[in-house]
Amino acid sequence: MTPAGLKAMNINSESDLPRPGKFERDASGNPTGAIENGPGFDVAIALFDKLPHPTFDEQVAGTKKFFREMNRLGVTGVGDPGGNNLNPENYQPVFQIWREHQLTLRIAYSLCGPTPGKEFEELQSLTQMLPQGFGDDMMKFNGIGERVTWAMNNNDRPSADQLEKFYAILRWAAQRKMTVTMHWPHDASADALLSIYERVNAEFPVKDLRWSVAHLTGATPDHLRRMKAMGVGWTIQRPEAAAVENAKELSVTMGAGTDAHRVASYNPFTTLRWLLVDSKRAGAAPRGPEQTPTREDALRAYTIGSAWFSFDDAKRGSIERGKLADLAVLSKDYMTVPLDELESIESVLTMVGGKVVYGAGPFAQLENSH
Ligand SMILES: [Zn+2]
Repeated sequence: MTPAGLKAMNINSESDLPRPGKFERDASGNPTGAIENGPGFDVAIALFDKLPHPTFDEQVAGTKKFFREMNRLGVTGVGDPGGNNLNPENYQPVFQIWREHQLTLRIAYSLCGPTPGKEFEELQSLTQMLPQGFGDDMMKFNGIGERVTWAMNNNDRPSADQLEKFYAILRWAAQRKMTVTMHWPHDASADALLSIYERVNAEFPVKDLRWSVAHLTGATPDHLRRMKAMGVGWTIQRPEAAAVENAKELSVTMGAGTDAHRVASYNPFTTLRWLLVDSKRAGAAPRGPEQTPTREDALRAYTIGSAWFSFDDAKRGSIERGKLADLAVLSKDYMTVPLDELESIESVLTMVGGKVVYGAGPFAQLENSH
């Protein structure tokens, strides 16, 4: 943050920072402007909450602008797995834009358990009139996730009680034929999650429900095999490359995404760089060829792979006769551009359902002519 930013947010000294935030300091002890998070993202979240809240109209206008920015990067649809900090009330501007037929990208959204301890009753109540898949091609409800209960969020050692409550929700979701996606960062503790998936699956097979696990950096072949056996997919953002290769070998369905936009960039080409060149961690060793997916595989995960998670792979995710006309013409050839130029790729023409939602240079007039 710049000094002006700190001042505007009324942060005059370290003690004004949300706990356990700290100023990063240079060798002579002067703040660099960076703020250090504790474990989790609590500080970042609390800082976001200090920002001035936009009015409803500003939220509508800002959302449209942000979607156009996504179109500029060639994005024609997003899966929002329903992470933290986004409650049902925050979705109202998006619903308005949808109602006015002004969405410029397709949205498949999940519902998060809003209040700690009340998740099950809230999810039951909120979904009474919201069956799996409800909506249209522009916007639809895609089940529950990715923080189903607060207690299981980033919890590598859940208690028996926390596991049982989580199981009860997943069992209910399976009975209702609902999709579940669950945020699970660490492969080492994934047995806790997968055991619950398996327990539910034994009663109500989830094979056709397209359940998934998000993140799971460094997924081991054993965990991937268990997912494959249930028909559970894997959504990747910054995985270890070897895990990606394992998943491909075991034919686990993979979808790729950015994890935007509080903890990562929303640029899909940034994620593609992580997949093809290096991990997110600064100073990490560059990947060897045996650990690097091909450009084609990475792109497949990002397009048709991701479409699977919202039951859309027969309609979009590839350019084929009979599918929705969603496409982007890129400024550089993704397949051949030098890898260090990947992130400079942008769209010059983006279409959603055959309608030009973004045009640059010679194509700018097409955007304005419809
Ligand atoms: Zn997550």
